[in-house]
Amino acid sequence: MIGKVLIVEDESLTASLVQRGVEKLLGIPARVAGSFHATKFLLADEGQESFSVALVDLHLPDAPGGEVLDHLLDLGLPCIVFTGEFSDEVREQMIAKEVIDYVVKENASSVDHVVRLIGRIHKNQGIKVLVVDDSRTARAYLRALLRRHQFQVVEAENGEKALEILDKQRDIFLVITDYQMPGMNGFELTKRIREKFDMNRLAIIGLSALGNNLLSARFLKNGANDFINKPFLHEEFYCRVTQNVVLMETIHELEEASVRDALTGLHNRRYFDEASRQFFASMQRGQMDIVVGMADLDFFKRINDTHGHDAGDLVLKGVAKIMSECVRETDILARTGGEEFCVLLVNTAPGGAAAFFERVRAAIEAAEFLFEGEVLKVTASFGVCTQPQPSLSAMVSVADGLLYKAKSQGRNTVVCD
Ligand code: GH3
Ligand code: MG
Ligand code: MG
Repeated sequence: MIGKVLIVEDESLTASLVQRGVEKLLGIPARVAGSFHATKFLLADEGQESFSVALVDLHLPDAPGGEVLDHLLDLGLPCIVFTGEFSDEVREQMIAKEVIDYVVKENASSVDHVVRLIGRIHKNQGIKVLVVDDSRTARAYLRALLRRHQFQVVEAENGEKALEILDKQRDIFLVITDYQMPGMNGFELTKRIREKFDMNRLAIIGLSALGNNLLSARFLKNGANDFINKPFLHEEFYCRVTQNVVLMETIHELEEASVRDALTGLHNRRYFDEASRQFFASMQRGQMDIVVGMADLDFFKRINDTHGHDAGDLVLKGVAKIMSECVRETDILARTGGEEFCVLLVNTAPGGAAAFFERVRAAIEAAEFLFEGEVLKVTASFGVCTQPQPSLSAMVSVADGLLYKAKSQGRNTVVCD
């Protein structure tokens, strides 16, 4: 879905700074054209459809009056304008031309700004926004604004429809709702949404008529994240939408980081404890069977001592990858200690569990990890608890005891209860 970024800019330093930012920071390929002529050549050469967004300088030696912008917009390519000259008149023109945004070249941070904006536009392609308004015209207007920033847009003509859609489409990230609607108004809708979705899962922005501060306050009190007064400037609309989206993304990233192990990317002990407690409760209600397995690498200290800590890290990452390829999506796999892993299998019969851990053991034993031209090998020992115990920690203790047994029996082995 993500295409290349076209940078049309005749100042070669600026162009290369933006290109480097887009390629290094965002990981998106970018091409530079320094003139109108070069732009046409590049589009013909690489195919216009291989580009998803263009950053356009308004003044080029062979197109001093913004001709490149018009050309690219005619081709249907979404454009961000990068301009040294700024006035109310230029702003009006840019808004009339329906460009994504305009950025004024002021200083070094303008390049950062433009790179961040390009990154934002690309990320928006994966973000779904629900627009709730009884007026078809208003919905179409909001849809067009959101589409220009490449959001996916879903529409609802009233509160009931909005709730139905939210129930079905769990990936909706943001709701923008009007206040005045027949049936359920914007406040009631906000309140109803908050019964099911908290502020960190789903953002709500209320639209209220200008001059009625009470409406804004009531939107916030009912659980909206923000409000926008109507009529609004494009810039304010985009800033508020973006700020709310970025805030939620940041919260999600922090939440995700807090349950992940930085080295291997596997879940950590905290996640294992929380998630497995829920699975254990389901088991107690007779809804599922669970198996808890513990794994510990054998003589791992030797790898560090012989080849260094980086070699040890590489082996840990490799083992984590092997294990994650073995488990199913519903299972839980975590790095719970230095070279120790916990696995919780869902609905696996005792015989199946033994076979599963035997497969993992064999895969680790067979693997060869390449570090600075040398092949490193490692094995692991496993303790597996398949029988229900009065508590989750009792199951972990049983698995731990059996792991100890596996170590004393010579390692590189699986011991089940
Ligand atoms: P055993 O077979 O009895 O389990 O022996 P072992 O050497 O694997 O066990 P021990 O507990 O003596 O040593 C574990 C080693 O794991 C010691 C520690 O330095 C290493 N270790 C723990 N965490 C990390 C890590 O994140 N990276 C690296 N490279 N090593 C780690
Ligand atoms: Mg060990
Ligand atoms: Mg250990």
